[in-house]
Amino acid sequence: MTADPAPKLIGSEIYRGSSYGSWHPLAIPRVSTVMDLTRALGWVPPGSYIPSPRAKPAALHAWHDPAYVAALQRAEADGEVDEETRRRHDIGTVSNPIFPEIYRRPATAAGGSLLAGELLATGGVIHNPAGGTHHGMPDRAGGFCYLNDPVLGILSLRRNGARRVAYVDIDAHHPDGVAVGFSGEPDVLMISVHEEKRWPFTGALEDREGGSAVNLPVPAGLNDTEFNFIAGELILPLVERFAPDAIVLQCGADAVQEDPLSRLALSNNAHFGMVAALRPLSPRYLVLGGGGYNPWTVGRLWSGVWGTLLGAEMPDRVPPEAEEVLRALSWSRKGRGAPTEALMTTIRDAPREGPIGERVRADVGFLRRREGLA
Ligand SMILES: [Zn+2]
Repeated sequence: MTADPAPKLIGSEIYRGSSYGSWHPLAIPRVSTVMDLTRALGWVPPGSYIPSPRAKPAALHAWHDPAYVAALQRAEADGEVDEETRRRHDIGTVSNPIFPEIYRRPATAAGGSLLAGELLATGGVIHNPAGGTHHGMPDRAGGFCYLNDPVLGILSLRRNGARRVAYVDIDAHHPDGVAVGFSGEPDVLMISVHEEKRWPFTGALEDREGGSAVNLPVPAGLNDTEFNFIAGELILPLVERFAPDAIVLQCGADAVQEDPLSRLALSNNAHFGMVAALRPLSPRYLVLGGGGYNPWTVGRLWSGVWGTLLGAEMPDRVPPEAEEVLRALSWSRKGRGAPTEALMTTIRDAPREGPIGERVRADVGFLRRREGLA
């Protein structure tokens, strides 16, 4: 296979118009905004966009229980589930509702991460913003995630020549599904920074998953300065020392200030900085999406992630075609108010700097000592 080192963006038209239901946090468009916004910014060079294949059930069985995959297919065909299926697989619930593409949509996101593992066999950079569904379990859904594409993507990378994989997760939530996937696995390093006292309530500071994980729960209000401190003191030195053959970054967009589901206070500069800093640490780099429930901040963040991977110049004010994409978004969430002008006209947020809290400093110090970095 000949290596094409130019970054690739994986998307699909299936995300356009697909919704978990009008009342669900995932009623909003996300990946379709990224597809439209990156095009409007002139950031999709010929050959860089790859339509995502839909994973076949057999490919999902690499980690998921065949009975569960079959239940998702049945739920899509029937538009409903019986009580036993709901109880056994956690689908047809408030968090994980039945919706028209309940099998096809997650199987497409998983297909993208599986394909990424193959395309990265000889190295390169791929962004799959539909990926990052880190709460999916082998036999049940969790936290809006039906399948676990990060686990499937890591398994695919390993089938295609990457032995050691570093997984870095900067979503506001702990990746409980990925932790289940690689607990005790010496060739996978899982690093997660997530908001403390928040669902799924796993990923405690002391929790090492048999030596495979480093978890840093952080307090509400985490700012860019604190995030950059964590990156420089903990995440980057750990990944560098691990010398991975591949890095998978789950770049959840729910850790920014405007997100309605969490209470962290980052700007998207935190994410862009992490995306750029991890790039030189491995020959294979897969950047996924994840959470993110404000249509403007999600679309801007993942578009900016792609621009960062591409090395594109980020304009202070977006061109009119891109502004049109942002102005066309709407959000039915009550009591949230109109988005600011900056969300309509920029990609990069103003930085949200601040003091480094005592707790963050102490916990990073604890982990540095425990991991032999200090
Ligand atoms: Zn999240």
